Amino acid sequence: MCQISQAMVDGMTLDDSAAEAAFRAEARAWLAEHVPSPGSLPSLDTADGFAAHRAWERTMADARWSVVSWPEEYGGRGVGLAEWLVFEEEYWAAGAPARVSQNGIFLLAPTLFEFGTDAQKARFLPSMARADEVWCQGWSEPDAGSDLAGIRSRALRAPGDDGWLLSGQKTWASRGAFAEWCFGLFRTDPEAERHHGLTYFLVDLSSPGVTVRPIPQLDGEAGFAELFFEDVFVPDDQVLGGVGHGWRVAMATASSERGLSLRSPARYTEAARRLVELYAEVQRRHPERAALVADAVAAAWVAAESYRLHTLWTATKVLGGGSVAAEASANKIHWSETDLAVHQAALALLGPAAERCGPSAPGRWLDGFLFALAGPIYAGTNEIQRDVVAERLLGLPRH
Ligand SMILES: Cc1cc2nc3c(=O)[nH]c(=O)nc-3n(C[C@H](O)[C@H](O)[C@H](O)COP(=O)(O)OP(=O)(O)OC[C@H]3O[C@@H](n4cnc5c(N)ncnc54)[C@H](O)[C@@H]3O)c2cc1C
Repeated sequence: MCQISQAMVDGMTLDDSAAEAAFRAEARAWLAEHVPSPGSLPSLDTADGFAAHRAWERTMADARWSVVSWPEEYGGRGVGLAEWLVFEEEYWAAGAPARVSQNGIFLLAPTLFEFGTDAQKARFLPSMARADEVWCQGWSEPDAGSDLAGIRSRALRAPGDDGWLLSGQKTWASRGAFAEWCFGLFRTDPEAERHHGLTYFLVDLSSPGVTVRPIPQLDGEAGFAELFFEDVFVPDDQVLGGVGHGWRVAMATASSERGLSLRSPARYTEAARRLVELYAEVQRRHPERAALVADAVAAAWVAAESYRLHTLWTATKVLGGGSVAAEASANKIHWSETDLAVHQAALALLGPAAERCGPSAPGRWLDGFLFALAGPIYAGTNEIQRDVVAERLLGLPRH
């Protein structure tokens, strides 16, 4: 796929190195044997589906495929970024299930590796790798979404001076209805304003004082939850990155969410491949409709492929010691708009049939489209990301 490290010195080659090819073959063979047939698991936003997806994560963990890039001591294979991208390509090409652990393994874990103590890594990473403990993200509040620095949930020193008492409300916690743990931002210094005086906590959702209220979506499934905290005791060793440093730690998580970690290109190149297949099928039956959508299909495919190439460029930079920084915002705009473009083109190809739901639905395009609509909102809205790109990448004046 990409000899990324060599590319640093002798230019990018997009072929697999021998080691990457062997890794790809091993991953492909294992996935071919173990992946549940596509669409066979119930939605992970239902209790049954959550359990089924958790079981799948454990199957992967048993064979050490759940977190390939982590060190072996935490359940990984210790492979590099290039192999992780290879694994992701194989994972999506195999039609494997969505990752119920994604908030933990793709968002919290990179932050734990960067800021966690050895004891925190040993405590939390292995159970995350096996999905024995699934995490949700407790950042947004009813009056603080884009304006994350406006959060009001607070933490006061506990009477025994061995921890904190958390109070407040979080909302839109994906998978919060079924998760065991939450990583969240709370204000520990009531005098400090905005992004000062915040602390990043790891909270056991079975603690006394936590109320989890699932939020039913239009389809009736509990994709989100509101989390209420009433004097919830959290010990000192569940502070990540130090008291008062929450903003810095949270920005590291946000960089994983928008940048390399959460959305690998394979998710989109695979969808674009399916789109081209659909185009060929529709062209046979409804050539006049296919002709009308041809440009959109080509543009969506190009967007997915350019996201893949852009990711290789970013990975090359990271392997060379660079960081993703504000470019994560450009990345986020790219993947979310690509997802929408692919799904919009698919719905246009399908015509009225696109609206069929349930077992007779053609492919998984409608579900995918509905989720793609949320892409420009979650992980920080695209309007805000465009501001970041304007100010921090392009150096335009702040407005
Ligand atoms: C599918 C999905 C999953 C989510 N999962 C989680 C989760 O797991 N955990 C969690 O904590 N949150 C989660 N969220 C919440 C998400 O982070 C927020 O929806 C997002 O940050 C926007 O906040 P808001 O909804 O309060 O909208 P607002 O911040 O009220 O924004 C409303 C509109 O105003 C625009 N706007 C606001 N401020 C500005 C500005 N300064 N300049 C230009 N435009 C602006 C926004 O772009 C948006 O279009 C999820 C959301 C979705 C859709």
